[in-house]
Amino acid sequence: MNKPLTLALTKGRILKETLPLLAQAGIEPLEDVAQSRKLIFATTEPGLQLVIIRGTDVPTYVRHGAADFGVVGKDILLEHGAEGLYEPLDLGIARCRLMTAGPVGWQPNGARVRVATKFANIARRYFAQQGVHADVIKLYGAMELAPMMDLADLIVDIVDTGNTLRANDMEPLEEIASISSRLVVNKASMRARYGNIQAIVDRLADVVAQQS
Ligand code: AMP
Repeated sequence: MNKPLTLALTKGRILKETLPLLAQAGIEPLEDVAQSRKLIFATTEPGLQLVIIRGTDVPTYVRHGAADFGVVGKDILLEHGAEGLYEPLDLGIARCRLMTAGPVGWQPNGARVRVATKFANIARRYFAQQGVHADVIKLYGAMELAPMMDLADLIVDIVDTGNTLRANDMEPLEEIASISSRLVVNKASMRARYGNIQAIVDRLADVVAQQS
């Protein structure tokens, strides 16, 4: 028998919003993924298993073919690159915006701006395109703290409702990109197992089309 096809997902919002799409496509894990500490789950679809990994690891697993396909936020693809991956389907879930944000009433003061963010590559590209000289400071969380502690002038972060920014006396400024989760597929798997993979992509595409 063939090696099972492996779909990589991420705990949290992507898992919560992807499982109902999979269920509508007739694919359900055989146990409760949210309650389990296991990392690999068989499904009702013969020959298809799920693995649960960190979002930033999804492109790596799929690029190397350790997973055949995965669901990942466009923010991660923009930040870490999408080489070796096909991106056949926008699942339209986990929608948010990648934005610049600053303290309420912030005004530029001088030619340079200090920007704190988890999305250092995106921020560097964005400010370079705007012709703004940005000193980008890489952080791994709590970006909103950086302007308060005078580590940075602005941040680049994910904004959904804007509540996190408001709670920290900040406001969104410019939208860099509109984000949603994407299905990514390993290019070699797509060639080697085209029939199996495309059939699942098509079933998911039908479910997504019904939602919009
Ligand atoms: P909000 O307060 O609703 O604007 O949400 C902002 C925070 O929630 C961000 O700092 C993110 O960490 C997180 N967040 C919201 N939506 C998403 C998403 N679709 N993907 C990843 N993180 C998100």
